[in-house]
Amino acid sequence: MTNDPLVERMRQFGTTIFTEMSALAVRTGSINLGQGFPDTDGPAEMLAAAADALRSGANQYPPLPGIPALRAAITAHEERFWGLTRDPDSEVVVTAGATEAVAAAILGLCDAGDEVVCFEPYYDSYAASITLAGAVRRPVTLRPGPDGRYRFDEAALRAAFGPRTRLVLLNSPHNPTGKVFTRTELELIATLCQEHDAYAVTDEVYEHLVFTDAPEPHVPLASLPGMRDRTLRISSAGKTFSCTGWKVGWATGPAPLVATVQRVKQFLTFVNAGPLQPAVAVALALPDDYFTGFRAGLQARRDRLVIGLTEAGFTVLPSEGTYFITADITPLGGTDGADFCRSLPERCGVVAVPTQVFYDHREAGRHLIRFAFCKRQEVIDEAAQRLTKLGRVT
Ligand SMILES: *Cc1c(COP(=O)(O)O)cnc(C)c1O
Repeated sequence: MTNDPLVERMRQFGTTIFTEMSALAVRTGSINLGQGFPDTDGPAEMLAAAADALRSGANQYPPLPGIPALRAAITAHEERFWGLTRDPDSEVVVTAGATEAVAAAILGLCDAGDEVVCFEPYYDSYAASITLAGAVRRPVTLRPGPDGRYRFDEAALRAAFGPRTRLVLLNSPHNPTGKVFTRTELELIATLCQEHDAYAVTDEVYEHLVFTDAPEPHVPLASLPGMRDRTLRISSAGKTFSCTGWKVGWATGPAPLVATVQRVKQFLTFVNAGPLQPAVAVALALPDDYFTGFRAGLQARRDRLVIGLTEAGFTVLPSEGTYFITADITPLGGTDGADFCRSLPERCGVVAVPTQVFYDHREAGRHLIRFAFCKRQEVIDEAAQRLTKLGRVT
């Protein structure tokens, strides 16, 4: 027997950068703007509903697709905000976070050797799920243009599609860049999906976090012509309702795609979060002003952090949505984001993560680091204050 019992294909996935950086934050007493989780609770109505459900016996296995009230709330929410209509009985499945929905979709749709077109930098679970399925990732690189907005090369996207393309995995609004894919970009993706008869799996966990100064609103790929019947749309309560520890996600789409997720999920977790499901149903039905207020609060904190980062000397790339902003370390004399992030806690007591870990082509993100601004205003203020130390020559 060898020393490492881990299967060969998983060895490339070591301890994540979040583990390393969060430990560093604790050790140095730094403000952790590395990992993207809020430091305040979600809406009181939702928390009260969860407590009620816990006390009133909702503690056994819910139905495999999720409780009817939550499935109805998911479809009503999708129709209210995106004009998409789905049948709550056959076109919705509740999952253990968006993460399980993505994993189950890939495991259920991809045979060994099938290809998944994705955009790098990408959310870290994507690469692992694709690899677990024995599928192959075909990453297309997002790069900041002269105006700082991230773009991809049309020819590169066309070249990523081929005879083995099974699906395109799209995250918009996009973590870690804060990019919101434009309608023109989505139309190109939709055209290529149809030309290659591929499915689309969309991760829209930041669907409510597109800032008012973003050039374009969020458009679900599923709403484009020809995409309704080939798109599995994934979202989650974690980011929208500040309850990342609940891991209540869902997938909606045509019945055959939803059934695929359900078939796999049945043997991963079977069901999850019984007493939290009715609470998320309450949250999804909150009035529009919850969603606009939540977005406005994050936008204000983004703006505060942008000022702090700019004053500290970074080149700050525009964040159009999500919890995140990326900054270029070049003006501060940095060349490697990983080295920079390892020394940042000692230098000024703030933790960020190097964006390069989210790429196959690390070179493209070597000089970029990511900050999360989903923290209380006073925490962002303090971080901004600490970052000003960087500019000073010591
Ligand atoms: C946070 C996040 C997820 C994970 O969502 P869960 O509901 O916690 O599983 C998935 N995708 C992206 C892009 C994220 O940022």
